[in-house]
Amino acid sequence: MSDCIFCKIVSGEIPSHKVYEDEAVLAFLDIHPINPGHTLVIPKEHHNDLLDTPPELQAKLIQVIGKIAPAVLKAVGALAFNLGVNNGREAGQIIFHTHFHIMPRFSNDGHKLWHGKSLGQEELSKISQTIQKHL
Ligand code: 5GP
Ligand code: ZN
Repeated sequence: MSDCIFCKIVSGEIPSHKVYEDEAVLAFLDIHPINPGHTLVIPKEHHNDLLDTPPELQAKLIQVIGKIAPAVLKAVGALAFNLGVNNGREAGQIIFHTHFHIMPRFSNDGHKLWHGKSLGQEELSKISQTIQKHL
């Protein structure tokens, strides 16, 4: 897509610090990392978000993440990572080209990804049943 920043990174029009590439997938360092080694894994083909991405390509992205995450961790001396997708504007998606974040984590690095809410058993039960109805 002509006005997509990540498509421009795929084509080389915008430079990036590449960490991995194959015929379908590209991985490069995030320009504003939450920690050193924060890596974005994207399909080369443009899709707006994860749900818009064909299942085979979703699977391919996960395979690549499994391959490169250990190398990312070794490179920055981390023992753990969060895997993230901001899917949709309300979830914080800014770039509408499918991407996973591999975010290396360190002890006491100050990041708190979410605060859990307390829902009653009845509400949990209602939500799970409604989700199943929509499948
Ligand atoms: P989102 O909120 O859409 O999941 O995250 C988009 C990510 O892309 C952000 O973490 C942001 O720092 C990163 N980003 C935005 N523009 C560029 C860019 O031009 N180059 C690189 N390497 N990362 C970018
Ligand atoms: Zn794109």
